[in-house]
Amino acid sequence: MKNKIVAGNWKMNKTFPEAEELLVAIAEGLDDMPLETDVVICPSFPYLEMAADVSEESNFSVGAQNVSDEKAGAFTGEISAAMIKSAGADFCIVGHSERRAYFKETDEVLAKKVKRLLEEDIIPIFCIGEQLAEREANQHFQIVEKQLTEGLFHLEAKDFERVVIAYEPIWAIGTGKTATPQQAQEMHAHIRAFIEKTYGAEIAYNTYILYGGSCNSKNALELFSCQDVDGGLIGGASLKVEDFIEIINAAETSIKND
Ligand code: PGA
Repeated sequence: MKNKIVAGNWKMNKTFPEAEELLVAIAEGLDDMPLETDVVICPSFPYLEMAADVSEESNFSVGAQNVSDEKAGAFTGEISAAMIKSAGADFCIVGHSERRAYFKETDEVLAKKVKRLLEEDIIPIFCIGEQLAEREANQHFQIVEKQLTEGLFHLEAKDFERVVIAYEPIWAIGTGKTATPQQAQEMHAHIRAFIEKTYGAEIAYNTYILYGGSCNSKNALELFSCQDVDGGLIGGASLKVEDFIEIINAAETSIKND
């Protein structure tokens, strides 16, 4: 039996006091839950240290949403993996489709970011997923295979084992249009089989593959109950404490039912 991971991607939301209020409310919500699920909260950079402070009294981990592909130096406005680690984060989202689309991040750059994170012992949550037109053209498997190959498969097995994958079909992100459990399971099983070809059955089985894209308190249990769905990367619903806690509860239920 494998545990689940539920990660909240806050994106560019919340001011400092609002972020603090939400973090404290989540910590209170998790207070008396004997969790088997690993909960990760990914707020904006300025809140990482505060989130890490709150997490010390709670049972969640903290993640960043992005990292520089450079190690240190004259890169005005960039945030390095070492900075993220020293602020208290143990995870970092990489290659979210919004970064790929709006900030033109390529798999080549993302591969460098993954390397920087692993050097600092931060777990990358590596996002992959296809656009609607690509799915309609039946290219979705090919697209994620390319993203995995170019972004991650240069890693040695001992490093690949430390990466979490998030499958997020772009047409489902922030749209309210969730992949059906059948669509999610089909893709997750495909991703696992693809990993197996390069890294073998044991690593493929142990790799966490999260689903993301309009996952909410209503559909989480059904999605998390799919055999190859190891949890979720939650955007909008992670900003509302009741919804987020219900999603974590769904993860707990899916572990118990397994
Ligand atoms: P959403 O976002 O849950 O709001 O669709 C998910 C994500 O972008 O990680």
